[in-house]
Amino acid sequence: MTYNKKSVADIDVAGKKVLVRCDFNVPIKDGIITDEKRIVGALPTIKYLVEKGAKVILCSHMGRPHNVFNEKLALDKKEKKKIEALPEEEREAATAAALEKAKGDVKKLSLKPVADRLNELGVKTTLCADVIGPDAQAKAAALKDGEVILLENVRFHAEEEKNDPAFSQALASLAEIYVNDAFGTAHRAHSSTAGVAAYLPAVCGFLIEKEISVMGKALDDPKRPFVAILGGAKVSDKIGVINNLIEKVDTLIIGGGMAYTFFRAMGSPIGSSICEEDKLDLALDMMKKAHDKGVALLLPVDNVIGREYREDTTFMRIYSDAIPDGWMGLDIGEKTQELFSKSLIGAGTVVWNGPMGVSEWPNFASGTRAVAKAVAESGAISIIGGGDSAAAVEQLGYADQMTHISTGGGASLEFLEGLELPGIACLQDKD
Ligand code: ADP
Ligand code: MG
Repeated sequence: MTYNKKSVADIDVAGKKVLVRCDFNVPIKDGIITDEKRIVGALPTIKYLVEKGAKVILCSHMGRPHNVFNEKLALDKKEKKKIEALPEEEREAATAAALEKAKGDVKKLSLKPVADRLNELGVKTTLCADVIGPDAQAKAAALKDGEVILLENVRFHAEEEKNDPAFSQALASLAEIYVNDAFGTAHRAHSSTAGVAAYLPAVCGFLIEKEISVMGKALDDPKRPFVAILGGAKVSDKIGVINNLIEKVDTLIIGGGMAYTFFRAMGSPIGSSICEEDKLDLALDMMKKAHDKGVALLLPVDNVIGREYREDTTFMRIYSDAIPDGWMGLDIGEKTQELFSKSLIGAGTVVWNGPMGVSEWPNFASGTRAVAKAVAESGAISIIGGGDSAAAVEQLGYADQMTHISTGGGASLEFLEGLELPGIACLQDKD
């Protein structure tokens, strides 16, 4: 996959119908959007298209609805299986309840709050009552230059996630150009994230353009020294990322829960720390690989340990990497903070994925805070990938000091693994 994709700025959009896949899957509580980052993130592309006189057709998913726009309201396979597993006398009631829930999804998972918010943010947007149905078709056909409509939740059709060609084609028939700006779903091959590109000229929006240019450059041609910081709960979540980055970095820092699998593999006592027993060989392989490649591998040298996996558990700092029985490592210690921070001085590029401890709990957030500070002060091109990592950096107040915080959790991980993302691979390369 190349990272050099055509963007909306590279094509003529004036007077054209443009289908824009956004990621408007925002958290909503009691009808109120609690975090509008994704909507705000989509504005540059939308406003650009409006200014250029395009006819803008926005499209997004919201949550995981049942397939409610089927002609016969039908339950999906999973739901059916669940019901079939029930005792016979309970099946009828369970089916009725599931169908009732599916009907409720139309209201609960409607994009109406998003349309309202777009209007408040200065983008005059009309919400369609359906996705590819008569209302969407009529509204798309009637669009004037610079006008904006929003299709209903594209996952109201089960065909979306199946990347069904007929559904992709129906979506594509609403427009003349396809713009993908939904980085958060770019690792999914769905109709609206990839399938439509078979039927329309396809380019990226500014959000995806920024994601792939910053992260693509880091992977292809990083400013050195290149340091990767990996943490989080599990080695198994990050095998792909470690494997890809170990080929490219000068220094690899490992913290967070995953460090204890490495210690266990080396025979150090880890108490009741989180550990993946089936990944010990893998941890040793990674250490050998780092050694063979001349990559400096840094592991914690001290820890903050707790009695239990609980926010208010008794905790203390120990001055070693060995964890006594009855305790678990929940954060890196002060010496480790110093060690990691020092290794970041003078870095050219830093890619960070995974907190250094249970950073969502104040008693165990110092390690992540110290590393965030060191990354900010390093002056390096800094890239934060992963949902929890992005949340931690934001919550600790360092977001505006990072070069790039990826908007895609799973998508950014797959990107850092060097995998091909279907929603990006389907877009036209620059000439
Ligand atoms: P991301 O979403 O950025 O990829 P992960 O999901 O891999 O990050 O890791 C975040 C999770 O790791 C958090 O829920 C955090 O509490 C957990 N974690 C970090 N350190 C530890 C630890 N020492 N023990 C248990 N869990 C940890
Ligand atoms: Mg996570």
